[in-house]
Amino acid sequence: MLITKENEEYKAALSDVSEDQLPEGDVTVAVEYSTLNYKDGLAITGSSPVVRKFPMVPGVDIAGTVIDSLGNQFKAGDKVILNGWGVGETHWGGLAEKARLKSEWLVPLPAAFSTKQAMAIGTAGYTAMLCVMALERQGVTPDKGDILVTGAVGGVGSVAVSLLAKLGYSVVASTGRADQADYLKELGASDIINREELSAPGRPLGKERWAGAVDTVGSHTLANICAGTKYGGVVTACGLAQGMDLPATVMPFILRGVILNGIDSVYCPIETRIEAWNRLAQDLDTKHIDLITNEIKLSEAISAASDLMKGTIRGRAVVNVNA
Ligand code: NDP
Repeated sequence: MLITKENEEYKAALSDVSEDQLPEGDVTVAVEYSTLNYKDGLAITGSSPVVRKFPMVPGVDIAGTVIDSLGNQFKAGDKVILNGWGVGETHWGGLAEKARLKSEWLVPLPAAFSTKQAMAIGTAGYTAMLCVMALERQGVTPDKGDILVTGAVGGVGSVAVSLLAKLGYSVVASTGRADQADYLKELGASDIINREELSAPGRPLGKERWAGAVDTVGSHTLANICAGTKYGGVVTACGLAQGMDLPATVMPFILRGVILNGIDSVYCPIETRIEAWNRLAQDLDTKHIDLITNEIKLSEAISAASDLMKGTIRGRAVVNVNA
């Protein structure tokens, strides 16, 4: 898939390109699967300036097999994963049959996963794991109380619900899709709330409800989460589905010692990525991977990107780039 911008006309379409057009890198990968993350939706539909160079192959996630490698770190036949590093934004990405990449960006595929399963997890799932690791690191144990997950039917949210429930936390899932209550319960949510409870402007401090949170939506929702977090609780902020603003006050931080922990997956150090992927292999219920997966063909990815932006996709859209 190639995104072009010519005379202010922004377009995503399937195209043939020759191998010598691939960007610089020391490893060439035969891509098996990619995915559609929220950021890919923004890039493909052109709703936000995610793409920094044209033409661009979108796709921030890649799982596939090394074809050739100039260094010693990887060899032909190795299965690898890539998440982020500006791939799909400034360097050609995963919505293609081949990718040329830098070896220092690659994570060996954990033995627990197939390339398809790894892409069902993708950046969304790996970000959910980074949020869970941040909660754990700061002492949020299951006995501390409820953990709120927002945007729960989306990619990050679905994986966060599953991981937290498996680890013994009581998970409250916030969603705008009441008809997905059974799905969220199956992933392990103990309770479900309507996202409208959190999305309007609120008070600087409210009732102490959450021991921790995984927030994928930002804006008033994030402000209200902080206002409703218990003394010493931890809010991990990774997304902006409602908006990139944060109309909050300092009250939760200075009166309740609430910790607001930002999460970035794109330039996260390689050691932390490897730890996150190993934790996913250990803590993500593989039954749930099937439940969250919708496999689509590369030719379906452009219309699926619009659906993602409309919020009608459940869980994760996994793209079979060879279908
Ligand atoms: P999805 O599109 O899969 O899910 C987003 C979910 O957000 C939707 O399913 C919906 O959940 C909810 N939502 C959508 N619009 C609104 C709104 N106006 N108000 C409140 N909730 C809304 O996206 P992902 O899960 O892939 O990504 C979620 C967010 O996390 C995105 O903003 C993305 O950019 C960000 N992200 C950040 C990363 C980082 O490194 N920091 C990495 C990965 C993602 P429901 O239907 O349940 O209400």
